[in-house]
Amino acid sequence: MTETQPGFSTLSIHAGAQPDPTTGARTTPIYQTTSFVFNDADHAASLFGLQAFGNIYTRITNPTTAVLEERVAALEGGTAALAVASGHAAQLVTFHALLQPGDEFIAARRLYGGTINQFSHSFKAFGWNVVWADTDDVASFERALSPKTKAIFIESIANPGGTVTDIEAIAAIARKAGVPLIVDNTLASPYLIKPIDHGADIVLHSLTKFLGGHGNSIGGIIVDAGTFDWSRDDRYPVLSQPRPEYHGLKLHETFGNFAFAIAARVIGLRDLGPALSPFNAFLILTGIETLSLRVQRHSDNAKAVAEWLSANPAVAWVSYAGLPGDRYHNLARKYSPKGAGAVFTFGLKGGYDAGVNLVSNVKLFSHLANVGDTRSLIIHPASTTHSQLNDEQKALAGAGVDVVRLSVGIEDKEDLIADLDQALKA
Ligand SMILES: *Cc1c(COP(=O)(O)O)cnc(C)c1O
Repeated sequence: MTETQPGFSTLSIHAGAQPDPTTGARTTPIYQTTSFVFNDADHAASLFGLQAFGNIYTRITNPTTAVLEERVAALEGGTAALAVASGHAAQLVTFHALLQPGDEFIAARRLYGGTINQFSHSFKAFGWNVVWADTDDVASFERALSPKTKAIFIESIANPGGTVTDIEAIAAIARKAGVPLIVDNTLASPYLIKPIDHGADIVLHSLTKFLGGHGNSIGGIIVDAGTFDWSRDDRYPVLSQPRPEYHGLKLHETFGNFAFAIAARVIGLRDLGPALSPFNAFLILTGIETLSLRVQRHSDNAKAVAEWLSANPAVAWVSYAGLPGDRYHNLARKYSPKGAGAVFTFGLKGGYDAGVNLVSNVKLFSHLANVGDTRSLIIHPASTTHSQLNDEQKALAGAGVDVVRLSVGIEDKEDLIADLDQALKA
């Protein structure tokens, strides 16, 4: 390799990995073990006291998972990362390091539905209070600030409409308020958008989606940008205060620009426990090797399908930031110039019945609740994920009775268009 920084596709295959030192295995082995033998008693004591880095127990570190962590940190341009059992676990472990009972955080209203549930209900039980803001009105984030605010949370490309968020404008508000900006980069992947370049302090992923990419494993990851001063005014005691279980060690003082990733691991993951299986880490690592090829194809196919739908007489509207004239097209050109991703929504003139009819008649598209698979996926939110809401609530959530959401896969685009065509005519 040359002295220059390797490119994205090279890092996707090589970052964090080397031939196995004992066997020479070229692919990262699956270290399917719960625990690791200590060299001697002093070594054991130094590992437990955080004086030395090394493996103790797979709930906290594992060599297969460590390669995944190093690779995603390299792709996102962060200092370190922590892989966990799911995207939701990544959110839980992140906020656990930042919030005390009674604290607040500001979150974009436009988020993955499961995240809205997690923030609205389960987080309340921890005494963590979400305050909602609107990405279409960036000043609403500033208005939502209070002395109790400890973080701001957004998605780079947001579910379900594939809308693009003005990350830099919201990062400026976070910086001024002295709180970290957390960006869920799941729908973009670092191939399309690198939020750290635009001011994010922490980047999260559901690895379940484009990074794993094949619809076979649940996982999540937390990337530390290394940019935030956790000690400035003692607002983040987990990072700035002495830890009794580590002989009074202060995590930020000791670990500097990767202290957040360490805190999430040695406090959150250690105590809450949502560890990733080494087998899933292996499958996700394999997926990441082809990330740049897949996401480019996903985006190109999505654009072709969106263009075709825009010209179809059964379709009332298409919301895809990759289309010129779309409300989010300028933001897409700025933040995501290689393409606007695979996920978008469109509306059917025939309303609820037409939506049910379409999902019932597709043959190649799979009717299910996921995104970011190699396979093309379709869902009619009003009759599934949002069926418990009344019509007005559905519309507010972007899940009106006429709305269909696609996650366009990497099959041949002609076959995808032919499938939608026959299903719309059926
Ligand atoms: C799927 C998803 C999540 C949750 O991830 P899981 O791996 O399902 O826990 C969070 N954010 C976004 C944008 C998602 O698409």
